[in-house]
Amino acid sequence: KEATDINALADEYLRLAYHGLRAKDKSFNAELITRFDENLPKVNIIPQDVGRVLLNLFTNAFYATQEKSKQSQFSDAPYKPAVTVTTQQKGNSIEIIVKDNGTGIPDAIKDKILQPFFTTKPTGEGTGLGLSLSYDIVVKGHNGNIAIESEEGVFTTFTITLPI
Ligand code: ADP
Ligand code: MG
Repeated sequence: KEATDINALADEYLRLAYHGLRAKDKSFNAELITRFDENLPKVNIIPQDVGRVLLNLFTNAFYATQEKSKQSQFSDAPYKPAVTVTTQQKGNSIEIIVKDNGTGIPDAIKDKILQPFFTTKPTGEGTGLGLSLSYDIVVKGHNGNIAIESEEGVFTTFTITLPI
């Protein structure tokens, strides 16, 4: 573990995730909103591991907005895909909050998404390992926490808590 600038790490992987989706779908566009705490203390983490967690969360978020874009294509209601990433200090921990206004997570699958190999994506698009791996890295590897909030069709928020 090493003292790591979470804002820089999040910024790097946010771009990587966005360009990863754009590489497959040139017409994909989303607004990237960052609300980084400029005074965020450095956090003692394994940067490669937390980087994988962030890459998966960001990719999932963009993917959900891409899906909703497709669903909204023929509807009258205008849709503007957006992913917002917030960093903040909370006592002796820091929080990374990833919010998207994509498809949301149906109640029926909320308790399944952390399971290994659970995916709603077509073959080749997802392995279903991202969130189960993220749970291991954040909770077991860093003594942190993952909290999920979602409303189907409206938004999804993942909050990663890491002790400083
Ligand atoms: P994968 O991305 O390979 O499907 P994950 O473990 O990262 O595997 O995610 C598992 C499932 O959780 C996804 O297939 C999707 O159904 C759901 N999910 C995760 N993040 C989001 C999100 N931001 N919005 C909607 N659904 C999500
Ligand atoms: Mg994933």
